[in-house]
Parts: sequence; C-alpha cells; structure tokens
Amino acid sequence: MKPENISDIDWKLLKEKYPNQLEKVVNKIKKNYPVQYLIGNVDFYDCIIQVNENVLIPRFETELLVDKLIKKLQNKKIKKALDLGTGSGCIAIALKKNLNINMTAIDISKRALNVAKENAKLNHTEITFINSKIEDFNLEEYDIIISNPPYVRKDEFVGIETKYEPQNALFADRNGLYFYEIIMNNISKLKKKPHLIAFEIGCLQGKDLEDLHKRLLPEYQFSLEKDYQNRDRFVFLERNQDEHN
Ligand code: GLN
Repeated sequence: MKPENISDIDWKLLKEKYPNQLEKVVNKIKKNYPVQYLIGNVDFYDCIIQVNENVLIPRFETELLVDKLIKKLQNKKIKKALDLGTGSGCIAIALKKNLNINMTAIDISKRALNVAKENAKLNHTEITFINSKIEDFNLEEYDIIISNPPYVRKDEFVGIETKYEPQNALFADRNGLYFYEIIMNNISKLKKKPHLIAFEIGCLQGKDLEDLHKRLLPEYQFSLEKDYQNRDRFVFLERNQDEHN
C-alpha cells in the first residue's frame, strides 16, 4: 500500500500516526497532498519545525540560507535581527538557536504566527513575534534584516505539490519582486540602516535584485550566491560595520 514516492522513514511515521486511517492518508498523498503536513513536522537545520496548511514547508535552500548566515555572523558583534515573513519561524528559530542575537520575526498571517510561536517553544528559543504586514513594519534599529518573502511570479508554473501551501506565501506581484523592492526602499529611508540584508530569491531574479540594489541601496556591497543545484538563490547586501549610516 506504500506509495512509491514515500520514503521508508516517512511511511513508518505515517503508520504510527494514522494506524486506522492509512487508506485515507494514501489517497491524499496520491492527490499530491504534502507528506510533511500529514506527518506534521520537518527537520530544519538542528531544529524540529511543525508544519500545517497555514505555513510553507521549509525548503532545503532555506536551510542553506541559515547555514550561510550563521557562518557570516558567528564572530560578529550583532545584536538585533529581524525576519520578515517568518511563516513557520524556521529561519528565525534556527538563527536564534545558533547565534547570540535578539530575534524579532513578523508575519501578516496570525495563523502562521501561531505555528511559529509553537515552534519557538518546542525548540526552546525566545523570539519576539509580531503580526504585521512587511510594508508597514518599522525597520529602524535592526542590525540584520533577513527575508524569504513570497517571490514566485504570478504567471509562473510551480510544482503541483505547492497547491496545498498558503498561496500568499509563494506568489508576489511585480514579477515576484514586490517585497524586495518594498523592503529595500523602506531601508533606504532609515536613519540607521542594517549592516546586513539577506534574501532568498527566485533563481532568475539575480539581475533584478542587482538593479534594485543599484537604484535603492548603492552604498551596500552586493553578492549573489548559489543553492545546492548551482542556481542563483541568495542575495547578501553588506555594509561596513564602522560606518554610521
Ligand atoms: N522556493 C519556493 C518554491 O519555489 C518559493 C518560496 C518563496 O516564495 N519564498 O516553491
């Protein structure tokens, strides 16, 4: 009865969790319902992250973003970090667990924030969660601003397995660039700008992000980095720590 695309480990977990409803579970999986939502949690970095239909399932690429950030920030004196569009809280929680920082995380969705709060507790991390739109949030006084915002173009074809995920966590206007432009534009107006801005991006958006950087935040150093499949996936904007503005 085990569907072909399910690993032995996941099948064991499903059998334990749904001893009397396995047929129903198998039918859902056949309709591309994500197995992660059925199991209810995923491993992310060294954290356990609960997931349900209110949050995007954490991606391997996002784990790599966390890894890169931890390596960049390990020996730096940083205090306040902000995660915009936290969803399940995976980025904020993994960073908080591995770095000595003050972490704030926001999301437009109250339901997502409830999941994120549970996850923070589960992983024994203290994070300030705030229900806010990215557009409205005051970005002043943060040393690091991180975001994996919705970035998929509205006319882009995405894998069928994403149809059960919150669509407002995936798709964005302006060819998927809407949130990067808002965030960078809002940062450009700050008195005290962050030292580091880190984004996960769509693999074809590198050039657009570089253009936004030149237009809105030219004082930052721009770097584009690749994911495990050698596709452009991350943008880092860094500014000299000694500068005041
Ligand atoms: N990488 C995700 C996907 O392709 C998109 C995540 C996002 O929009 N932040 O499904």
